Amino acid sequence: MAGRGPIVGQRVADNPIMAYPVCPCCGDRRPAAATLRRRPLRRTTSWQPDPLWQVRRHPLCGSCERWLWGVLDEVRNHGAARPVPLFGAPSTGGRLPVFEDQCQVCLAVPQDYGTMIDCIPSGGSRGSWPAFFACASCDAWIASLAEDGRSARGEATRAIDGAYGDWPHPNLRELRVSLDLADRGSAATIREACAEMGVEVVGGVDTVGSVLFVEASPGASVTRVVRENVKIVRAVVVVTPFGAGRELREALQAGASNWLTLPLTPQQVTAGLATTLRRGLRVRWDELSCLPVASLEGSDRPAIAFFPLGDTDVFSVAWLLRRFVRGYDEVVSVGGQVILLPRAPAERLEAVRVRLDLLLAGRAHSAPLDAAATAPPRLDLAG
Ligand SMILES: [Zn+2]
Ligand SMILES: [Zn+2]
Repeated sequence: MAGRGPIVGQRVADNPIMAYPVCPCCGDRRPAAATLRRRPLRRTTSWQPDPLWQVRRHPLCGSCERWLWGVLDEVRNHGAARPVPLFGAPSTGGRLPVFEDQCQVCLAVPQDYGTMIDCIPSGGSRGSWPAFFACASCDAWIASLAEDGRSARGEATRAIDGAYGDWPHPNLRELRVSLDLADRGSAATIREACAEMGVEVVGGVDTVGSVLFVEASPGASVTRVVRENVKIVRAVVVVTPFGAGRELREALQAGASNWLTLPLTPQQVTAGLATTLRRGLRVRWDELSCLPVASLEGSDRPAIAFFPLGDTDVFSVAWLLRRFVRGYDEVVSVGGQVILLPRAPAERLEAVRVRLDLLLAGRAHSAPLDAAATAPPRLDLAG
């Protein structure tokens, strides 16, 4: 895995099929049978391609093409009745298909940008999948699977995370977690992560002293739940879908302690709990990005800065990063800039940057940040 990222990006750009020695999705040396194509769109008066945002291509072997299509099909036909058996998969959250420009994966109505996704067989001109429209969040999720499906399939959960997979679960045995979540997939993921850590999960009623997970949803206020509980719980963690920036902002102002993106992975839950408890209430949140305000003075940790492009708002970039970085990476706001601090050695920084660039589909420009050049003494994460 290490170091493959940059090669992937360059070879795909040069020659999408012939030069590809390894299928990135399964990691096997199989010939590419098809190319997954992601064409970013933005809404002006209608949905239009935006020249700022590049078309991204991912080669797939035949077996990965069929696997990925099967996963998409399952997510789209799943409804909210039971969680998709794949960590981090989007869910329709009970939404119904009504409008033409709903995301055809999670059925959310995208704000100002989305992606047209199809799959072109090698040597063919017509898609082997029908083209479909996806929100930026589902688009990045599909790209993350095309770039590496092994972890999602459970074939390489540990190996693929490299050093990340070796992170010990924090000792949180005294902790109680309570849930107020409509999304069953996320509730199941939290229960699974907590079971792994030996942490008790209680029903939504008895919240005293617990870490309470609440769900933000676009257009519905979670602030009341935060206000009612903030004095009696240990912390409130807001589980936030892509379109709920405003609702999250209000929840943080009302005293929420942390937020995670919806859907969740077990590692994000584990790392999120550890971070929440470590920080306590000392966090100051950047109003636009909803990221913890930090200073990099004196830090020698590898860091990458992300700059939104076009009319992409800073919260969208912050949300997408938090959704797709590993659970123990930190995304912070430094002087209003979005900064990623990956728990990775400096030599892997470029691979991390290229992977995230690919997922963000050009919606943000990224650059390694030479913190050492601007440096006095120590990293203060403001909590
Ligand atoms: Zn493959
Ligand atoms: Zn979606």
